[in-house]
Amino acid sequence: MKQTKQALEIKNLSISWDQLIVLNKLNLKLNEGEKLAIVGPSGSGKSTILKIVAGLILPTEGELKIFGETQKYLRLDQNNPPDVRLVFQNPALLGSLSIEENVGFLLERNKKLSKKLIHELVNECLEEVGLFNVGNKLPNELSGGMQKRVSFARALITDKNPDTINKPLLLFDEPTAGLDPIASSRIEDLINKTNKKANGSSIVVSHVLSTIERTSDKVVMLYGGKLRWSGSVDEFRKSTDPYVFQFRNGKLNGPMQPKDI
Ligand code: ADP
Ligand code: MG
Repeated sequence: MKQTKQALEIKNLSISWDQLIVLNKLNLKLNEGEKLAIVGPSGSGKSTILKIVAGLILPTEGELKIFGETQKYLRLDQNNPPDVRLVFQNPALLGSLSIEENVGFLLERNKKLSKKLIHELVNECLEEVGLFNVGNKLPNELSGGMQKRVSFARALITDKNPDTINKPLLLFDEPTAGLDPIASSRIEDLINKTNKKANGSSIVVSHVLSTIERTSDKVVMLYGGKLRWSGSVDEFRKSTDPYVFQFRNGKLNGPMQPKDI
C-alpha cells in the first residue's frame, strides 16, 4: 500500500512576543500534494505560521517537520534545507535590481550556471506568469499587479533538474488582498498554475472567499493561538460552526471579538 507522505507536520508549536502569545501549542498536518487555506482575523498569527515554516523566525517551542525532516535551525544553518518558497504579502522585490536580476537572484549563487542559462530560465518563468519583455525594467516601472506576478516567477524558478526536483512547499501570504475581483481571479489562476507546474503542496493565507475556494481543498481557522476548525472547502462553505459562520458572513457577533477595545 502506498503511504501518504507528509509535506508538513507541526506539533505543539508556540510563539510569543513578550507577553503576547501568538501561537499556543498549535498542531497542523499537510500531506504532500494537498492545498490548504489558513483563515482567521488580522493579527491571529497567520503570517507568523508561514514565517516559521519558511525558516525566517524560530518558534518559542514545538516541533516542525518538513517532508519528514525535523527542523531545528533557521534554514541558513542547514546543509540540505527543504524546498519551501514563500510569496510575501507585498511583492518584496529589490528596488535597485532589474526584474531579471530579482527573479534570477538565487541562481546567481550557483556558480555552475552560465549567465545565458540563467537568462533563459528567468525568461521562461516570467513568460509562465504572463510577463514579456520586462526583464530590463526596474520594479517601480511596473504596476502593482505586475510586481506581484514577478514575485510568483521568483517562486517558480529553480536551478534543479526538473526530473529530480522534489516537490516544493509553496506558501502564499494574502496573495489577493486589495485586488479587484478580476485581478484576484488572475492571481488565483496563477497560484493554481504555479502549484501544478511545481507539483507541490501549498498553504494560502487569505481573507478572500473566492481565493480560499478556488485555490485550496482544505481550510483551517486560526483564532486565539489555536486552530478552531478544520475541514474541506465544501464543509467551510456550509459549516454552522460559530467561528466559521462569523468569519464567512463578517458578523460582529460571535466568538471572535477585538481584545483591546
Ligand atoms: P496575521 O498575519 O494573522 O494578521 P501576524 O502573524 O502578522 O498576524 O501577527 C500576529 C501577532 O504577532 C500580531 O499581534 C503582531 O503584532 C505580532 N507580531 C508579529 N511579528 C512580531 C514581531 N516581530 N515582534 C512583535 N510582535 C509581532
Ligand atoms: Mg499577515
